Amino acid sequence: MREIAKINKTFAEQIKEECGEDVYLCYQCKKCSLGCPTAYAMRYKPHQLIRTIQLGQKDLVLKDQSIWFCLSCQTCMTRCPQNLDFVKVADAARTIGGREKYKNPIPEIAAFNESFLFLVEKFGRIYEIGLVMLIKLKTKQIMKDVVTGLPLFFKGKFGLLPHKVKNVNEVQRIFAKVKELESK
Ligand code: SF4
Ligand code: SF4
Repeated sequence: MREIAKINKTFAEQIKEECGEDVYLCYQCKKCSLGCPTAYAMRYKPHQLIRTIQLGQKDLVLKDQSIWFCLSCQTCMTRCPQNLDFVKVADAARTIGGREKYKNPIPEIAAFNESFLFLVEKFGRIYEIGLVMLIKLKTKQIMKDVVTGLPLFFKGKFGLLPHKVKNVNEVQRIFAKVKELESK
């Protein structure tokens, strides 16, 4: 028997509280989806996700992979006649999903985002081996892609030790400022 989707009438308000964007401004012109470089991979394209939020289909949005395919390139916002910022909407949906313990359908993406930011804050630049190890630990897939990674390692494509940029304090100051703004 097909599952009947639960309607959450306050989902759009919750998104607005989280990021300030009003999804009811959207009138479904589809310009966002037609310019989106990752729409081909999304089950629900940006305009469909917005419509789904308008209709209160919270489970459908937060359990699906589509919100995780957004690259934050902002093409959709640039094209939107209503200036709706889909990046903020997708970020808000991911934050709400995490807070309310929805199972992330692609944990690798969240693991990559967290690890990447952690390393850039620490060293001021990316540290490839560290990034790979952190993602593997977070996703508990230690042996995945080892066959692909080893030849790159032996060709010297990954440095064994991290290198800090000269002004790493400046980078860390930016991270601290962002955290301060986010906590307000
Ligand atoms: S910001 Fe995200 S949804 Fe918008 S066009 Fe870029 S990838 Fe697509
Ligand atoms: S471009 Fe803006 S108004 Fe048009 S469908 Fe996308 S979000 Fe809605």
